[in-house]
Amino acid sequence: MRMITQFIDGERRSFPSVRLTPVFEPNTGQVQAHLEHADATTVAQAVAVAKAAQPAWSRNSPQHRAQVMFRFKALLETHQQELAAIMSSEHGKLIDDSLGELRRGLDVVDLVCGVPHLQKGEYTKGAGPGVDVYSIREALGVVAGITPFNFPAMIPLWMMAPAIAVGNAFVLKPSSRTPSASMRLAELALEAGVPAGIFNVVHGDQVAGEAITGHPDIKAVSFVGSTVVAKAVYARGAGAGKRMQCMGGAKNHGVVLPDADLDQVVQDALAGAFGSAGQRCMAMPVLVVVGEKTAEDLRKRLVGAIANLRVGGAPDRAAQMGPVVTGEHKRKVEGYIQLAIDEGADVVVDGRGRSLPGSEEGFFLWPTLIDNTTTTMRSYQEEIFGPVLQIVRAETFEEALSYPSSHHQGNAVSIFTRSGDMAQRFVEQVAVGMVGVNFPMPVPVSYHSFGGWKDSAFGDLNQYGEDSIRFFTRTKLVTQRWPSENTIVR
Ligand code: NAD
Repeated sequence: MRMITQFIDGERRSFPSVRLTPVFEPNTGQVQAHLEHADATTVAQAVAVAKAAQPAWSRNSPQHRAQVMFRFKALLETHQQELAAIMSSEHGKLIDDSLGELRRGLDVVDLVCGVPHLQKGEYTKGAGPGVDVYSIREALGVVAGITPFNFPAMIPLWMMAPAIAVGNAFVLKPSSRTPSASMRLAELALEAGVPAGIFNVVHGDQVAGEAITGHPDIKAVSFVGSTVVAKAVYARGAGAGKRMQCMGGAKNHGVVLPDADLDQVVQDALAGAFGSAGQRCMAMPVLVVVGEKTAEDLRKRLVGAIANLRVGGAPDRAAQMGPVVTGEHKRKVEGYIQLAIDEGADVVVDGRGRSLPGSEEGFFLWPTLIDNTTTTMRSYQEEIFGPVLQIVRAETFEEALSYPSSHHQGNAVSIFTRSGDMAQRFVEQVAVGMVGVNFPMPVPVSYHSFGGWKDSAFGDLNQYGEDSIRFFTRTKLVTQRWPSENTIVR
C-alpha cells in the first residue's frame, strides 16, 4: 500500500513508528494509501529546517523571488492534468472541477509574481526639517498554513504563494483526507527554485495542528476549516502571541425576488448547491424565495432540473456531480437530511439510498431538495456541507434580507433580481462578507481579498490580495535625519 510521508528540507521523509490513517478513493470507497501522521517532534524538525533556511531566502531581491514564482506558475500549468487527477482521486470532485480549483490557486501565484510592487514600502520626504520617513515590509520568519479537505490545491496556494514570495519559510499541514496534492506542490516549488526548507509539508490531524499553533518559532498561522476548529485555533494561536487568520464554515443564502430570471436561478442553484457535491465554503445551500407563487414555480423547476442532473465518478466526463469525500461524511450528510424530516421540513427530493452501478461502495449521494425549511431548525442553522438545497419561504424583501443577516455564519450571499434598486439596497444592508448580485458564488478575484464575517472568519486580514501581503509581513517604520548645513535647526 502506498505511504504518504512528510516533505521536509526538500525531500519526502518517513519517520519510524508514526500513526497511520487511511486515505480513501471516494469513487470506489476503497483505501488507496496510508498517511503518516507527524507528531510534535516531527513538526519541530520541520520548523527548525524552515528557520535555518529562511534568512537567506528573505535576503534575495524581490525580483528574484518573483522569478521563482513565475517558474512555479509555469510548472503548475504544465502539470495541471496530473495535479487535477491527484485532487479528484482523494476528494472525489470531477476533473473539470479540480482544474477550475487549480486555476483559482494559480491566479494567486500570478498575483504574487508582482511581489516587488506588492511588498514595496512607502516614503515621505521632508516630514520635518531634514527628516524623511519610510516603511519596510519584512518577512515574519517561519509561518504556517492549516488547510481543509475540500480545496486540496487552491487553499494551500492561497497561503504558500504570498507567504513564500515575501520571504518567509512555510510549513503546511493539509487535511489528512486529501494530503497528496500538497506533496506535488512542494516538489514543483522546489523544481521552480524555492530552496529546500522553505516549503515543508507535515501531515496529520489535531495533533500536528496543535503542534503548529503551539510552536514558539511559528510567527503566523493561516487557517481554513470548520468554524468550531477555526475558533479554537484562533484562540490558541492568538493566546500564544501569533498573528492569526482563521476562516470558518459557511451557510450561504441565495435570495430570490419575484422578478428574478428563474431559468438563471435554477442553473445557478444547481451549480451552487450541488457542484463539488456541495462541499464548498462558497456553495449556495439555501434559497430564500420571496412570494408563494415564485416559491412554487421555482420548486417545480428545481425538481425537473435535479431529475436530469447526472451523478458520476471523476472519470465520467459527462457527470455533473461526484461523490462526497468519505463514508463518514456521507453518513453525516444523510443524518442532516433525516434531521430536516424530523424537524418538519418537506423533503421534496431525497438523495439518499441510491448507489452508482459499478461503484456500489463509492461515497455517492444524489441531490436533495428540502422545502419549507424554517430558520429555527437546526438543519438550517448548521452547515451540512453536502449536496442538499434548502428552501426557506419569505413574504417580503425585508424578511428575506433578515435571514442571511441574522445567521451566525456570514461568508457569502447572493441576490437574484432584475431590480437595480433592490439589489443596491440588499448590498448596502446585508450583514455578510461577500455578496453576489445575480451571481451564485461570489469568490473575489485574486487581487481583491477573500473573507467572510461573523463565525465565518476570525482575525482582521483576509486571504490573498493585498491583505495576504500585510498578513505575512510586518512593517518597520524608519524616521531618519541626515543633518546638513541647510537643515540643522540651531
Ligand atoms: P476541519 O475544521 O475539520 O479541518 C480543517 C483543518 O484543521 C484540517 O487540516 C484538520 O486536520 C485541522 N485541525 C483539526 N483540528 C485541529 C486543531 N485542534 N488544531 C489545529 N488544526 C486542526 O475542516 P474540513 O472538514 O477539513 O473542511 C471543511 C470545512 O472548511 C467546512 O466547514 C467549510 O465551510 C470550511 N471551509 C471554509 C473556507 C473559507 O474560506 N471560509 C474555505 C474552505 C472550507
